[in-house]
Amino acid sequence: MKEMLTWRQTIAQQWFLTKFCFKHAPGFMVYHLFEAVKLQVSIFFEFTFAVNYVLTVAEEGGDFRKILVCMGILMAAIAVSTVTFAIYKHYVLPRGKQTLYQALRLEIYEKAKEIDLSCYDDKDFYENFILATEETDRCLDRFLLFETSIIARTVGFLCTIVFCAFINPVALVVMAAAFPFELFCVVQENKRVVKSRLERLPHEQQREYGNRVFYLSDYAGELRLYPQMKEECRMEYAEENAKIESVNKKYGKSLFVYGVFREGILGRFIKEGAIWTLLLYQMLVLQALTGAQLVTSRGCIWRATNYIEIVIASLRTVAENSAYIYRIREFLQMEPTVVSRAEKPVPEGSGSLSAEHVDFGYLPGQSVLKDVTFTVKPGQKVALVGYNGSGKTTLVKLLLRLYDPNGGNICYHGNDIREYQVMAYRRSIGSVFQDFKIYAATLKENVLMDVENGSREENYLVEKALYDAHFTLENNQLSYQIETPLTTEFEKDGVNLSGGEAQKAAIARTLYRKQNLIIMDEPSSALDPLAEYRLNQELNEIAKDKTVIFISHRLSTVRDADCIYMMEKGRIVESGTHRELLSRDGKYAAMWKIQAGLYR
Ligand code: ADP
Repeated sequence: MKEMLTWRQTIAQQWFLTKFCFKHAPGFMVYHLFEAVKLQVSIFFEFTFAVNYVLTVAEEGGDFRKILVCMGILMAAIAVSTVTFAIYKHYVLPRGKQTLYQALRLEIYEKAKEIDLSCYDDKDFYENFILATEETDRCLDRFLLFETSIIARTVGFLCTIVFCAFINPVALVVMAAAFPFELFCVVQENKRVVKSRLERLPHEQQREYGNRVFYLSDYAGELRLYPQMKEECRMEYAEENAKIESVNKKYGKSLFVYGVFREGILGRFIKEGAIWTLLLYQMLVLQALTGAQLVTSRGCIWRATNYIEIVIASLRTVAENSAYIYRIREFLQMEPTVVSRAEKPVPEGSGSLSAEHVDFGYLPGQSVLKDVTFTVKPGQKVALVGYNGSGKTTLVKLLLRLYDPNGGNICYHGNDIREYQVMAYRRSIGSVFQDFKIYAATLKENVLMDVENGSREENYLVEKALYDAHFTLENNQLSYQIETPLTTEFEKDGVNLSGGEAQKAAIARTLYRKQNLIIMDEPSSALDPLAEYRLNQELNEIAKDKTVIFISHRLSTVRDADCIYMMEKGRIVESGTHRELLSRDGKYAAMWKIQAGLYR
């Protein structure tokens, strides 16, 4: 969404968030609105109604007790109101906000979980996603602060002008005459402010990237080794700053002109002048106005104008907030295409997995996999090898149904994998990725990747999976064994695992689950050759009844595979056992010779 929203769209976004808030926190919303309206109504009673009453009684030489009673009632009402406001501020508001933040974030996270991985390859999607997650809390804050205050101020405004209409209707006419001009100026200003914010947004995001490079620890080491990169980032930061500055300049002049005209010439000079002239003329020349009425109608006009200005100024925030809500909704409305076409249960036990004439590209017109056909029989150990960029990881992503092929199909247990329930199918496969992640949680949770049930058996199985993956719990850093927190993100005594240990923990995740089909993308790339050799021996033993598909760069680890598929430019160019492929003396043999030479 690079353009401003129309009024209709703006109202639709506001309506969406209003419904959302009332659905998830109805009690809070009613209290919230009550407090906002109460504030404006009490301002009206205190500063308009009571002032007029007291001055009129005083002017007419009335009973002083009347004034005392009026002030007493007012003070008592204010005291009670202070209590309800304190309850609102300290208890209701913080809780209500948290409920709403959580509800919106949960919807976003649920959506993020189900949408296609391919969406992440799309820049627009990614921008919307980042914005949706970053802006949810602020969107709700702005909504609660501005949108609801518009309702309250409208009530305050209505009370004020109805009262003024009784005392001095002519004064209202003067105020109303200036209104169209003021509205025109404010709308023009709002348009420019929102446009300039939207124009600045991509530059601000880019500038934020530069910022992140400086403060995230992931980059700190490299930036010290490649100081030139720091310079590059700094220059980019300066460039983006300059672009932001030029957007500010572009709109600055007209904003200045409209602002000065609205607030200075029209607001102060013309309008104020006209109102004072009218009021004094009514009182001194026509003698149609008492002193109390002059003070009250002047107060009403001032307050009503103030309400209009604040509401109009809030419209700018409303328009801007609506643009953010629009993006969040766009994100929430995305529908995944990798969906279950039928709800077949995934059969138990080992089954064959086959790809038939699979074609795939991430982008339209791109061809990353071409006519890939192979069959993996139950219990087979199959290796995918090939040079970087030949399509091995892509093929694995298709086998896991993170993407769907553009042509051909993939079958498991004899059924097209699109006929299984997506999540159940993915869960039926144990997978280890090259870019696995270690989470800021305990070691146990990092293996479970699920909610703990806390049983002894669960602990035993986690420890066994770690043991089978050659993860040494005796490591003296792990003071709390499997309960040791990993990463230093939240825990001062959290442990940062080495690359090899992290990889073993990731392998333990798969071993814990005991699936019949295991797919591993470079499962042991971070291990030293000896550790890798030992782990592979062990994995072969543990997974001897399972079907295993693995990618490896080190051909020494694939030589025992039942079948090796050599990939090149998205195609399977050779297949067979290590011996068969060597004797064919083709591409695999050439790769083997290069690697053997390197090791010698
Ligand atoms: P390998 O695992 O054999 O190194 P990959 O499957 O990772 O190869 O990549 C195959 C090709 O697909 C490469 O040319 C790579 O640039 C491209 N590619 C990988 N991921 C994406 C993506 N998300 N979007 C666009 N192209 C991609």
